[in-house]
Amino acid sequence: VPEEAQAEVVVVGAGLTGLILAGELAARGVDVRVLERRSVGATDEPGPLLEGLHYPYGVARKILGAGRVRDLWRLTIESRRIVSSLGPTTTTGSNRVGERPHEVEALRESAALLQADGFEAEWTGEALRVPGDAAIDPAALVRRLAASLVVCEHTTARRIDDRAPQLRVITDRGDVACEAVALATGASTGELVPFFESIVYPVRRRCALWSARAPGPLRTPRVSADGRRLGWQRPDGRILAVESTPLSDAPEQSWDQMLGFSCDELPCVGPVPGSVRLFVCAGFHGNALGPACARMLAQIITTGRSEYPYRMLDPRRHVI
Ligand SMILES: Cc1cc2nc3c(=O)[nH]c(=O)nc-3n(C[C@H](O)[C@H](O)[C@H](O)COP(=O)(O)OP(=O)(O)OC[C@H]3O[C@@H](n4cnc5c(N)ncnc54)[C@H](O)[C@@H]3O)c2cc1C
Repeated sequence: VPEEAQAEVVVVGAGLTGLILAGELAARGVDVRVLERRSVGATDEPGPLLEGLHYPYGVARKILGAGRVRDLWRLTIESRRIVSSLGPTTTTGSNRVGERPHEVEALRESAALLQADGFEAEWTGEALRVPGDAAIDPAALVRRLAASLVVCEHTTARRIDDRAPQLRVITDRGDVACEAVALATGASTGELVPFFESIVYPVRRRCALWSARAPGPLRTPRVSADGRRLGWQRPDGRILAVESTPLSDAPEQSWDQMLGFSCDELPCVGPVPGSVRLFVCAGFHGNALGPACARMLAQIITTGRSEYPYRMLDPRRHVI
């Protein structure tokens, strides 16, 4: 970061969300600069981009309400559409499987409810199959997105000074003066804005990768009913597992991934309470909501509204 750098909008975080947000802003003529504390593509992500929320559709409707769940489901499909327009995706479909009788029943019921609401899903007798689910190479995608943007890697945003006439992002490598800041900082959002400490909280997921082997049954990603565990044989033959061990030999690589969960299971997209120039886009609860929410926030920042259902995601709902 050059001393006294300037930008119209600073995006903090160069994960998939931050880079799509920055690209959307740049496409609307905004002078945008991205700050990333690591290097771009360092975030290990599972490759599947799965439709829907982590728990079955019918269960989600009981918890969040039918209208909100339908809107969120559509946003995950929109995320897949946005990502497909940005780079190669492989259509894999996915199989959601229950281990206990009530999980099997919830998935079977969800298949019927999804069909009734116009979503593509079927009950195979053993699994809820979503044919349109796809997978991406997230590291390659973020590197490609970053190549056309101004991204300052290895630059940690330490603090945001929202009191001065011009907003300032204080980093460990110099300050950036700007008109607005957007946080796409995932699980770390509360570190920069304490208001989010108990609203977007980190949840660890253990991921492992096994060496390539002959094609097997996991070529279609297999996801547990609660969305927590996943097994998938990638196109390169390697087997990826999240919170599960589908093979008896030791994996060649394993790592922890931190997800930003949300206290009410809904993302926070919009202005940070108390500010008109600080925005947030985080709390996806491990669901494929980041890309659509990034486009939503770009629309909010540039026009004050969005074509998507944005009011239910407004962070100001958390103000007591
Ligand atoms: C089992 C499992 C299944 C998943 N399924 C899906 C799925 O189907 N679809 C999907 O989209 N996602 C899925 N995810 C989540 C996905 O991997 C990403 O975590 C998610 O897309 C959020 O991306 P993000 O860009 O918002 O956050 P992150 O990828 O966490 O990026 C945030 C970035 O901000 C940077 N940062 C944070 N604080 C600062 C700071 N102060 N200064 C500078 N930089 C900072 C971080 O270094 C990081 O690069 C899944 C994850 C798991 C484990």
